Amino acid sequence: MNQPSPTTWPDLHNHVSTLLVTADTAVIFFNAGHVILDANDKARQWFGEIFPQQTRLQDAWLDELGLQLVDRGLHNLTLNALLSRQVPDSYVGLSLANQTRWAQWHVLATIHQQEPCQALVLTDVSELMQSFHALQQHAEDADTRDFATRLYNRRYALERLEQMHLHAKRYQSPFAIAMVDIDHFKRINDTYGHSYGDEVLERLASVIQKSFRETDLCARFGGEEFLILMPETEINAAIFSLDRLRQQISELKWAQMQRPVTISSGVVRWQINKSVEQLVFLVDQRLGTAKKAGRNQVCGDLF
Ligand code: GH3
Ligand code: MG
Ligand code: MG
Repeated sequence: MNQPSPTTWPDLHNHVSTLLVTADTAVIFFNAGHVILDANDKARQWFGEIFPQQTRLQDAWLDELGLQLVDRGLHNLTLNALLSRQVPDSYVGLSLANQTRWAQWHVLATIHQQEPCQALVLTDVSELMQSFHALQQHAEDADTRDFATRLYNRRYALERLEQMHLHAKRYQSPFAIAMVDIDHFKRINDTYGHSYGDEVLERLASVIQKSFRETDLCARFGGEEFLILMPETEINAAIFSLDRLRQQISELKWAQMQRPVTISSGVVRWQINKSVEQLVFLVDQRLGTAKKAGRNQVCGDLF
């Protein structure tokens, strides 16, 4: 029986090129002087005009195309080093026609028209990267967000408060803190059931989120309590915002409930001589005052 003959280089090249051409992969063949010998359709689609025997792979050429190396450690490497396979395969971000695509970068030794050469192979992994980024975002969200309301969680809010406190100390940039609590929420649960209470909570959280600026931070601080951090905001403006929210919530219509749902809030201004714990204590105290004064109101010290 005949032994199958070993795969020769040209055969292998044919296999590889068929594979690569049918895959979503850009292939550029180049010689030892980095002159491009050939390129497939995908490479032309990505990089535009390529003139075999004329265009050279060089740093400026790739810079122009907005090709950036993603691996941080590879930032300062030259194209030469990459093409001569001195570094492991890596991922690159390509800015093509104002759209970022992601590609995996390989340099292979191969044959082109009977001459040994190298191939730069860029495999489009954009979809994979998008799924990866979505997963990453999901993991980050799970760490910083409250599952039910999608607002930030207590831990993250305190972390950010600590940062804002340091920033304000350093740059004398004041900020305001508010604590919001739903009035008589227990009654809602007791009368309409816990799951209806959950719906009320989620709707109010969404109203709260929409009511503040994108630069403000809204968090679920506890059961039916919310913490709002308002950078670069003076106390009067903060009190005004909280009162506008109070009014907005008291005017919401509810399918099952006749009575409006109301909230109470405490507001304080950042103070240089107070710790984060003291500021949280103070804002909670103001909230307590608003409750004692009859609820559905904002308590803060106007300047
Ligand atoms: P006050 O006006 O003094 O704030 O009265 P309140 O009834 O709102 O306050 P209290 O602290 O007596 O009760 C808070 C209630 O909030 C009790 C608790 O079961 C309910 N609660 C906390 N978290 C949730 C939640 O995630 N879902 C539901 N449905 N209820 C919650
Ligand atoms: Mg309450
Ligand atoms: Mg409460």
